[in-house]
Amino acid sequence: MLTRTEDIAASVENWLSEFEGALASKNGTALKALFHDESYWRDVLAFTWEIKTITGVGAIAAELKSCSIEAQPTGFAITSARTPPRRVSRAGSEAIEAIFQFRTAQGRGSGVLRLMPDAHDRNSVKAWTLLTALDEIKGHEEHIGRARPTGEAYARDFRGPNWLDLRKAAAAYAEHDPVVLVVGGGQAGLCTAARLAQLEIDALIVDRWPRIGDNWRQRYHALVLHNQVQVNHLPYMPFPPSWPTYIPKDKLASWFEAYVEAMELNYWTGTEFEGGAYDQKERRWSVVVRRANGTSRRMHPRHLVMATGASGIPNIPEIPSLRNFRGTVLHSSEYQDGEMWRGKRALVIGSGNSGHDIAQDLHSSGSHVTLVQRSSTMIVNVEPSAQLPYALYDEGPPLEDCDLITASMPLALARRSHILMTAQAKNIDKDLLAGLERKGFRLDFGDDGSGWQFKYLTRGGGYYFNVGCSDLIVKGAIGLVQFSDIESFVAEGARMRGGDTLRADLIVLATGYKGQEHLVRKLFGNEVAERVGPIWGFGKEAELRNMFTRTAQPGLYFIAGSFAQCRIYSKYLALQIQAAELGLIPPSLAPPVARMSEATSGILSPHIADAHAGYDPLARR
Ligand SMILES: Cc1cc2nc3c(=O)[nH]c(=O)nc-3n(C[C@H](O)[C@H](O)[C@H](O)COP(=O)(O)OP(=O)(O)OC[C@H]3O[C@@H](n4cnc5c(N)ncnc54)[C@H](O)[C@@H]3O)c2cc1C
Repeated sequence: MLTRTEDIAASVENWLSEFEGALASKNGTALKALFHDESYWRDVLAFTWEIKTITGVGAIAAELKSCSIEAQPTGFAITSARTPPRRVSRAGSEAIEAIFQFRTAQGRGSGVLRLMPDAHDRNSVKAWTLLTALDEIKGHEEHIGRARPTGEAYARDFRGPNWLDLRKAAAAYAEHDPVVLVVGGGQAGLCTAARLAQLEIDALIVDRWPRIGDNWRQRYHALVLHNQVQVNHLPYMPFPPSWPTYIPKDKLASWFEAYVEAMELNYWTGTEFEGGAYDQKERRWSVVVRRANGTSRRMHPRHLVMATGASGIPNIPEIPSLRNFRGTVLHSSEYQDGEMWRGKRALVIGSGNSGHDIAQDLHSSGSHVTLVQRSSTMIVNVEPSAQLPYALYDEGPPLEDCDLITASMPLALARRSHILMTAQAKNIDKDLLAGLERKGFRLDFGDDGSGWQFKYLTRGGGYYFNVGCSDLIVKGAIGLVQFSDIESFVAEGARMRGGDTLRADLIVLATGYKGQEHLVRKLFGNEVAERVGPIWGFGKEAELRNMFTRTAQPGLYFIAGSFAQCRIYSKYLALQIQAAELGLIPPSLAPPVARMSEATSGILSPHIADAHAGYDPLARR
């Protein structure tokens, strides 16, 4: 394998030049010769206007050949502005990793190439993975850096509106509707709106909380973020270098407020999105939002971005005997603070992050807590084990390069690397895990040991980052019982199969939330929900379903996930909306008009009618 920096750079340049030549001549044989049999090409909008991964040399060569006719990619080169090509270990394999730039007929892009020698072909250096990602559309670039707005306009006319007047008018939407309505002002909504603002696409965020940042502020008292600060930046405006490694929730909440102000985002607080319907003829939505003062406003945005997080509809399991219980039953979304339960007895049902965090909060407030485990759970110490997947962000490359490298990992290899990291974490945390097993805690490490990241990506939970609750369980300070050992709930608590009664004043159902498809059904009706299909988790394309991309429902998009996911993919979501606005792509992945029925054309859905009749489709948390 090559070791000298010059040799590494030369072999990357050589590959890129042969690649460009093969694309230009549409030479399938030459393209095939550049890739390993087991290889992956992830395209993020640059060649195909889709986010997709193509696997295997044959399929890659065929797709490249066909889509480069329209994309016309050229100018492949490494650039001194990015991290230079280097040797790395990814998913347990050694490779040369290089960031490069290129152009297409419509835009400019960046990519990541990983090369390895092919032992079956004279050790010639071939591509193992390739990412091609769109950065900007030509002629419609972001107004940042040297292209920043001058600001002069505000100072030329002493009688005209100044910056503040213009900002207030823009955010009031008195005379017009936004082009994009972003529902939800957590990190997913903020990232999306900030990206759109830089592309000069008029976007409004609506959120039901009364104050920006309340989605964090209202969480439990002791919360600090689980990931280290360097992974959690929002786009354009990184956290100050003096900030603590783990950001406290209220500090983050105030940063959200500052971010909205500094990035000039339009944000309506105390505003509930009540639902709507797509008008196929007008190619826009008709939606209703209810403001804090009780008034409703109908809007007609062309695009709707659902950034509503996982916490839309609480998942309340059907436990008939729970009706017998005379104490208080709360879903975790209703739980506020342990103080009022001091000296009382509590059962917390569910052993994911919320269940553990609530159990620890109640314990620290002086309640007697028992955690009730329903299914096996992965436990990982928040440090260092939970930080292993983010080692890249500590290696030194700038954030933008780390994000591109993260986006370049195809699902199959990400899985392979998480299996390795899970084994490492299991070893690091072995004492804690052994202690938990002694207490009867049922552990698991995900399918094939692929760990918490894949649990998160496939089902949104099933793990706990230990910030102390597991230690309390091991010490016996927090009790543990298995749900299967409960015979039934009775007036005083839980009757165990052994005959004892576990007394309780409070039962917390930390049983998670229903998937976003339930929210779609509630807000837009069955037809839209069926057209869109499952959201989150993986489909056959090896990409998260309906996330960060156009969907089969024109003008409807979803964004969610970690700070890193939101930061990375908000850029590509905004570029798709921009491309749709420019007429470069249709606002849907479905064939035009196909699958759209008369039922959705030009009329409001029953959901809106219900909303007008005072029906509150989503109870305030
Ligand atoms: C203890 C803890 C630590 C964590 N640490 C990290 C970390 O370090 N890094 C990381 O990346 N992630 C972390 N997470 C997870 C993750 O960041 C959160 O789940 C995050 O809140 C998701 O952001 P979001 O914008 O998708 O959704 P949310 O923050 O849930 O925001 C969604 C918003 O949509 C609004 N909304 C929903 N429906 C409507 C409607 N109909 N009308 C109006 N508004 C609506 C809600 O009011 C809410 O404000 C942590 C979570 C917890 C609990």
